Formats: sequence, C-alpha cells, structure tokens
Amino acid sequence: MVTPDKFREECGVVAIHSNAEAEKLAYLGLHALQHRGQESAGIATSDGMSLHSHKAMGLVPDIFTPAVLDKLRGTAAIGHTRYSTAGDSALLNAQPIMVQSNKGQIALAHNGNLVNAQEIRARLENQGSIFQTNSDTEVIVHLIALSREQTLPEAMADALRRVEGAFSLVMISVDRIFAARDPRGFRPLAMGRIPASGLEKRDTIVFASETCAFDLIGAEYERDVKPGELVVVGPEGVSSRFYSPTGPQSSCIFEHVYFSRPDSMVFGRAVDLSRENLGRELAREAPAEADIVVPVPDSGVTAAMGYASESGIPFRFGLIRNHYIGRTFIEPSQSVRDFGVKLKLNPVRSVLQNKRVILIDDSIVRGTTSRKIVRMIRQAGAKEVHMRISCPPTISPCFYGVDTPSKKQLIAANKSIEEIREYIGADSLAYLSLEGLKRACGDGEKTTYCTACYTGKYPTDWVDVEEIQPATVTED
Ligand code: SF4
Repeated sequence: MVTPDKFREECGVVAIHSNAEAEKLAYLGLHALQHRGQESAGIATSDGMSLHSHKAMGLVPDIFTPAVLDKLRGTAAIGHTRYSTAGDSALLNAQPIMVQSNKGQIALAHNGNLVNAQEIRARLENQGSIFQTNSDTEVIVHLIALSREQTLPEAMADALRRVEGAFSLVMISVDRIFAARDPRGFRPLAMGRIPASGLEKRDTIVFASETCAFDLIGAEYERDVKPGELVVVGPEGVSSRFYSPTGPQSSCIFEHVYFSRPDSMVFGRAVDLSRENLGRELAREAPAEADIVVPVPDSGVTAAMGYASESGIPFRFGLIRNHYIGRTFIEPSQSVRDFGVKLKLNPVRSVLQNKRVILIDDSIVRGTTSRKIVRMIRQAGAKEVHMRISCPPTISPCFYGVDTPSKKQLIAANKSIEEIREYIGADSLAYLSLEGLKRACGDGEKTTYCTACYTGKYPTDWVDVEEIQPATVTED
C-alpha cells in the first residue's frame, strides 16, 4: 500500500434520540461528516423494540439508498463513517458494531484509538470471549457485555474506566443513546438539539463529531460532551455523569489545523476562526515579497485568506481542485509526469504567469506532493514560489487515532528546513511557530491542546518508543 502524503482523517460519529425520522437524520449527519472517513459507513437504529443495522464499504450516499433507509426506520439512531486507524480496512470492521448482550441489544460506534485494546482482547479471549472483528471498538462492546454492573449506563461507565486511549463514542440500546469522551478529550464530540415541532412531542437530542452535521439537520449546538463525561438520553430525558476523574485536557490541535471543516465548532471554538488566525500569525512571522497569495485547496484556503488580509497581498485561486475523482483511475500508457497530483489539482496559468507566489498549505508530510505542486506552479509561469505552512514541522507520529506515516517517512523528522526547501524546489520555505499555532487556536481558553506531532512530547506515556527513532527519508 502506498503511504499517503497527507494525514488521514480518523472517523466521524453521529447519534439521534427521539425523532420519527432518526435514520434519515443520521444519514444526513454522516453525509456532512464524510470528510472524516470514506472507507465505510454504517447506521444502527432502534424502533423501540429491537435494533436494526446496515453497513457497507463506500461513501454514505452510495450505501444508504432510499430502500436501505426504509428498512432502518426507527426513532433513535447512531451512525459512523470510517477511515481505519486500527484494524484492517474491511467490511468486517465497519461500524457500528452490534451485539446481543445480557443487558439487551447494543450497537456502538467509535472515533479514536484504544492503546490497551490488544492487551484486553488477549485477556478476554483467554477467558472464552469470541471476537468477530479485529477492530479495537469491539473490545469496549465485550467489556460492556461482561461487566458485573446491572444497568447499561453503569456497565458502560465500568467499561470505559478499563480502556485507555483517545475516543469519542456513541452507543444505542433499544430505548437509549449514550455518548462519551475519553478523560483527556482528544477527539471532539458535540451535543445539539432540534426543538419539538409538528409530530415530534419532545426535543430531538443529537450528537456529532463536528457541528457541521447539526446545520444540515436543523439542530442547534448546545455544548460539547466533556472529557470523562458519559451522557445518557432516554425516556426520562438527558442525564450526565463523569465515569472518570478528568485530568489535564489534550484536545487534538490538528482538528483545527486540518481535519475539521471550517464551518464546524470543534472543542467549543469555530474552526474558521482558528484557521484564519493561523494565516494571520504566519503572515506576521514569515512575510515574503510577492504578488499573490495562493492556497493549496481545500484545506489551505482559510489560512491563505488570513495571510492575504494580514499582509495586504491579494488572495487568488491559482490552483483548482477536481472533487470528482473515484477510487481508481486509468493512467495513459505514455506516462505523464506527476499524474496523481495533476489529477487532483490544476494550475490557473492566467493567475500564476509572471507572478511571485506565496503558496499556503497546512502541512508537509513526506514532501513528495509539495515538490510536485511547486513544480506545477513554476511550469504554469510563476517567477517565484514561497511556500508557507500554517503549522510547525511535523516530526512525530500520532498515537491518538490519526493516521500518520512513521517517523522515518516524515520529512521534517529527518531533514532541516533548508534541506526541505531544496527538496521541494521552493524559493523560500517557512513554517508557523508552535507559539503562533497555540495562539491562533486559543490554547488555554476553552481547551488545552495536544501538540505532540510537532514537539515529540506526548501528553501520555502510552506511546510506542520504537517509533521515535530518527531515520533517513527516501524519495519515492
Ligand atoms: Fe492531534 Fe498530533 Fe496530538 Fe495526534 S499527536 S492527537 S494528530 S496533535
């Protein structure tokens, strides 16, 4: 498998309680969260008597046809869209994972990465548990099913106290929805409400990884599920408990830099605000004499707008992204240089010709894509290319649910900034400082952030030290 030259999103989750069209709302919520995972998707619903579920490989609108949604009719639902960070990429590991337990039917969907999943799984298998998948999510399902606690909320709290890692998860039983975050709050999970109207006698409570899912279904953002909190929504209304004492928070700052949509609130803060601030900070820290500011679309757009307004240099779309690329494509037999990048991005010659360009991107992972983009912009007639990155150099992999290449493939872990500049062929290269990044994302205001992929200083001790050895990067 080719290592991606971008970080990969983790997963997205959504949950709906008490709505006559819960399955449709879950489907629309997943549609809005599609950017968080495009490998597989699934929905589990409750009609008040039993659970129903459907999951498949592919994109949300392709999986959930009207006929499929018809069979999923219910008044509560959870949904999941997946990019695998643990477990193989296969239908077997698609979520939600549904089981019949001694506490009734349950289905669970999870965004994040459990670090002690293998250890718990080995112990449970020794005791006779049979696992259906190799996803770490199933470990939580087994722990809930085997818990000595009598009620589902207690059993879930008991299970969550036994797992370590970064997780935001939603669970459904026949009459309840559960939503929880890990005690450090690595991954986001927001709670919203659709006020009762028409046929609905009570408010619909919704949960989603990002609030862009609420906008599509007419829900108002209410608050985040707090780190270490378990929220239960059932016939008696909404209740909350802290299943674990909360420690220092370490929310993933990369949600603001890259993963989340700019129209979302994440960790109680507008992503668009952070991303524009990133560009402004970058313009102050790393100015350049140039004619235009050009983003690498789509994720570099908001930061480029911030850079342009702060520097007074005009913002222009000098690269256009093709959004309609399928999973496979046929390459002409006479090979085209940089074909993969050209398929996704095309330069606008009339914008770039004879211009000194400031090119804004959100990261350089291996450097191979940046090198191709810089070459493409020069071939389109640009006189100079000054690359600016809206976060610090990425030097360490993530152990908290984000798919990063290993340390030996991260170019900034192995080369100096000057060596990277030379490799990508830019006239100048600058990254945002760690202080600039934290300021732009409001560190210490509503949350404190994990910045481990930029510092190598992990907020927990459960990391794989083998990964943290320097190595030499090779070109592909
Ligand atoms: Fe996010 Fe980086 Fe921390 Fe992973 S290591 S949680 S990607 S900030």
